[in-house]
Amino acid sequence: MRFLSALMKTIIDFALPPRCPICGVTVEADNRFCLACWQDLNFLSEPWCSSCGKPFAFAQAEGAQCVSCIQRSPEHDGVRAVVEYDDKSSLLAMRLKYGVRLGLAELIAQHMQRFLPEVPKDTLIVPVPLHRWRLWSRGFNQSVLIGKALAKRNSLEMHSKILLRKSATPPLRSMSAKKRRKIVGNAFRISSGAERQIAGKTIILVDDVYTTGSTANACAKILKGSGATRVLVYCWARVLTDYDKP
Ligand SMILES: [Zn+2]
Ligand SMILES: [Zn+2]
Repeated sequence: MRFLSALMKTIIDFALPPRCPICGVTVEADNRFCLACWQDLNFLSEPWCSSCGKPFAFAQAEGAQCVSCIQRSPEHDGVRAVVEYDDKSSLLAMRLKYGVRLGLAELIAQHMQRFLPEVPKDTLIVPVPLHRWRLWSRGFNQSVLIGKALAKRNSLEMHSKILLRKSATPPLRSMSAKKRRKIVGNAFRISSGAERQIAGKTIILVDDVYTTGSTANACAKILKGSGATRVLVYCWARVLTDYDKP
């Protein structure tokens, strides 16, 4: 049996060799980037802002915050982004969003793995929900796919029905921070009875891309308001340009 599956893999690899998920060149194994894409991606790591996880150029004193967090503390307890959002990383996010490529969700979860040691064993994974119309037109939620892969790897529970989206939101990037907060602030709700499940828990809020932070903040606010002790945002890519408009 093992021989047969190894044989099948050889045949499939010959017909459909593993490809770099960003540029498409042939690579050695599934879920690997080619060397050029690997070198181009900006993998994010410490030192970073203690409140939002925005990387600092240089090491700073413990507990140091970035300028935006000093001005206004986020509702969440940190963003753990695998890479910076740019042409290459956004391509991977688009492929996951519009191509139902399950392998990409697994690849992203694999790269998120380095953030997991910081959370307790009873942490819940909650994907950022899509509005039902968007879910209906696309057929799946990319954040659920990433959340599932992450939950499976770490034997954690994922709850995709705890947090619900009441209304669809327009693209937020061009709006002022105040307007974004107003629009997104009312877009989510907690399902009835969910408080029991999230009380006292650390929650990993999963999203594919973190742009302005408004969505993550709105989700974190409602989750913490319903009893969660800590909400960390895990995403594939994070926009690092400062979009915070006064
Ligand atoms: Zn490549
Ligand atoms: Zn910050």
